This record gives sequence, structure tokens and C-alpha cells, in this order.
Amino acid sequence: MTVAVVLFTSDLRLHDHPPLHTALASAREIVPLFVRDPAVAAAGFDAPNRLAFLADCLHDLDASLRERGGRLVVRSGPVPREVGAVAEACGATQVHVAKGVTAYARQREKRLRTYLAGRGIELYAHDGVITAVAPGAVTPAGSDHYAVFTPYFRRWSQELTRVTVPAPRTVRVPAAARGEELPSRDGTPEVSPGLPDGGETAGREQFSRWVRRDLSDYEDLHDDLAGDATSRLSPYLHFGALSAAELVHGARAHGGAGAEAFVRQLCWRDFHHQVLAARPGVSTEDYRTRNDRWRTEDEAAKDIEAWREGRTGYPLVDAAMRQLRHEGWMHNRARLLTASFLTKTLYVDWRVGARHFLDLLVDGDVVNNQLNWQWVAGTGTDTRPHRVLNPVVQGKRFDPRGAYVRRWLPELRGVKDALVHEPWRLSGDERATGYPAPVVDLGEGLARFKRARGRD
Ligand code: FAD
Repeated sequence: MTVAVVLFTSDLRLHDHPPLHTALASAREIVPLFVRDPAVAAAGFDAPNRLAFLADCLHDLDASLRERGGRLVVRSGPVPREVGAVAEACGATQVHVAKGVTAYARQREKRLRTYLAGRGIELYAHDGVITAVAPGAVTPAGSDHYAVFTPYFRRWSQELTRVTVPAPRTVRVPAAARGEELPSRDGTPEVSPGLPDGGETAGREQFSRWVRRDLSDYEDLHDDLAGDATSRLSPYLHFGALSAAELVHGARAHGGAGAEAFVRQLCWRDFHHQVLAARPGVSTEDYRTRNDRWRTEDEAAKDIEAWREGRTGYPLVDAAMRQLRHEGWMHNRARLLTASFLTKTLYVDWRVGARHFLDLLVDGDVVNNQLNWQWVAGTGTDTRPHRVLNPVVQGKRFDPRGAYVRRWLPELRGVKDALVHEPWRLSGDERATGYPAPVVDLGEGLARFKRARGRD
């Protein structure tokens, strides 16, 4: 009887799971396995919000497998050793895994392949599981990746041909497959109070609900901060509880401008994956250097602290930073603004901001976080690398009545709409108590940045 191991990593779902589908087509029994790798914690990627969400995902996966007659096997330790031990205990001859793009995922695959080969076990690494289109599947003439989004989007749209695969009906797991107790969300300290529930079931419900309510208006409302009408699917995509390919097909089935705008955003995710797959070093190094001599962390310590704590004196920046702490998530428009404020107005290295985001974001991943930070800092793929977002202008445009700001800054609840983005203009007796004065003058911040980039 053939047995196969399916190693789950960033693909914690049963629907549209090609490695699982392929394994079930050739093996009578399978071991659905998740390994808690100490290397992830050692590298500092074990942020409490993501650990809590991961625990939900594993419980949900286990419950869905049990409904089909199976169960999830969870183990802790170095991945090759744990996979090898399970495979040998169950007599498995194949291991299936999704291909990842980060340096860590590649190392893991390489080590696993070597380890298993020494034991006569074959490793199948499946492409196009984590993204809708596999990184490298489309390339421009003369390069291994697209550096500009729009031409990538055009080719990506033509390439979107993969048919999604259904969730299995039954799963048989060999009795010899032994694991440990699943981690629990309750046991995770310092979790943001507004963290959403993780798991494929919650993700699928969220998608259906959002499609019914907001998909058709997505094009018009995706930048409306107070409206909060984006899908909030990023954590489910980060953990692979939802399949990007399935979301593309699901949105397109509804048609319309909203669906197309949403599909375009999903393409951004693939775009960054294909950049990082081709240039793994850009998780820490500039993609395109601008010869920045960032202020040192010592020199900018007070500004960095104010930014992290949501006390810069610029209401839109502060509201966003407090949302991040409270929910482990932030609206895209707010991410753009807070990142621009740190890197350009305060002229602090994008890596400092990216680290803080990764400490808190439930969807925080090396690919999308680092490359979006680089995009905003102007060291990445943005074709207008020196633009600077003004928090007052952005506030008036994307939060015109100040509802988003008031939601997160109770200090400003009594301030009238016209001044909610510029509280320093309030007269003495109107001035909100407890709200700080701006940490920097916007004009001075802009001048410093322009000087640094040689554009004054
Ligand atoms: P929607 O607007 O509903 O979009 C649907 C999906 O498209 C998202 O879930 C996401 O998977 C994808 N998407 C949308 N915009 C982008 C984008 N610019 N880049 C890549 N994918 C995108 N996204 C992450 O998933 N993880 C991160 O760590 C992350 N860090 C970011 C840091 C900065 C500085 C910036 C500017 C953006 C970052 N983003 C990151 C991208 C984006 O802000 C989030 O994906 C989005 O806000 C998630 O909300 P949503 O699911 O409601 O998005």
C-alpha cells in the first residue's frame, strides 16, 4: 500500500491544494503533516499575532481532515528530521510540499530533498500553490523577473489558466503517524485584542460575506479608510488558508469593475513573489539603491518611538499605528502613509519600519512586507521613487470627515471635521488635551528628504 506525506507550510487549507490532490491520486494513505520549525522562532518570525492565527489555522485544518476521516499530525523540530521520521514510521515513499520563494523556504526544500534522498524517499515540490501564477512562469525578454507591475499584470492575466482542484472527500491516515498536541491560541501571550479568527473555514466565510457586501464597490471604496471595505483576506492568504487562484476565479465569476480591481490587487501579491524569487536578497537589501544615508536609530530614536506608539502628532499616521497594535492589521492606504512618513518625512531606514510591522502584522510576510516597504521608500519597484505622501492631504482625501481618525484617537473625538487632520490649528481653549504636537514640521521633513536624495 502506498503512503505519501503531505507537508503543509504556507498552504493551510484543503480546497485547491495541488500537493494534497496529487498525493491522494497516487497513495492509498497520506500523512497531513505540519512541522513547527524552531528556525522560524530563532529568526524572530514568531510574532504572537501570527502564532495565534496559526494555531487557529491548524485547529481548523485538523477539524476539516477529521470530517473526512483523517487528522492533522503536528510535530516540532528541524523539518528534514521530523518529515523523515514520520515518513519512515509510516513507510511513505513520497513527500509532497508547496514550493516557497523566500531564502528560508528554499533552504528548507533543499535540505529536505537531500535528507529524504538518502533514505530513498522522493520529494515533490509543487509550483503555483502559494500564488495564483508561479513565480518565473512569465518573464520579460532578457530578464528573470518583471521589475514593473503593469506589463507583469498584462502577462499574468493571460497566464491565469490553472484549474483549481476540489477538497478531498475522504482522507485515510496511517495509525503509525504520531504527532503532538496542537498549539492553542489561548496559550499565546500579547495577542492584539482585535485579532480575527484564523483558519480556512473563517477565511471562506469572510470571502463569501465580503463578495456579497463589498466586491461590486471595491474599485470605488478600496481607499476609503473609514469605510473599511477591503476584503481583509490578507492573513488567510498569508497562511494559505485561502488559495489565491481560487479567489481570482471566485471574484471573476461575479464580474464587474470591482472584481477586476480586486484581481489586480491579488496580482500585486504575485508580482512581489516573482521579484523576491528572483532576488531573495531584497528581503534585507535595497532592490535599487538610492545611496541613502538614513538617520541612525540613535539619532532618530524619539521619532521612531513616537511613530511606533502612534504619537507623532499627525492624526492619520497615529490612528493607523494604533490600529496596527489593536488589530494586528492595517488598511493599505494607511500602510502607504505610515511607511512614507517614516522613511521620507522622518528619513528613517525602511528596515526599521518593516521590522515593526513584522512584529505586529498578522499577515506580515517577508515578501509583501519587505517589498512594499521598499516600494514606498523608493528603493524598490516604484517608478516614482521620490514622491512623499503628506498626512494632511491624505487625510482630507481618504478620511474627509475624520471618522477613521476618531475611531482610533479618542482624544480627537470632539474636534470638528475641518481641523481633525490638523489639530495644531485649534485655538488655545479648543486644543485637544493629551494629543501631542507634531514631531516634525512637514516642510522641514520634505526638505531634508529632498536634500538626501539630491533633489533640492
Ligand atoms: P484587499 O484590498 O482586499 O486586497 C486583496 C488582496 O490582494 C490582499 O489580501 C493581498 O493579499 C493582496 N494585496 C493587496 N495589495 C497588495 C500589495 N500592495 N502588495 C501585495 N499584495 C497586495 N500585505 C501582506 O499581505 N503582508 C504584508 O506584510 C504587507 N505589508 C505591507 C507593508 C506596507 C508598507 C504596505 C504599503 C503594504 C503592505 N501589504 C502587505 C500590502 C497590503 O497593504 C495588504 O495586503 C492589504 O492591506 C491587506 O488588506 P486586504 O486583504 O483587505 O486587501
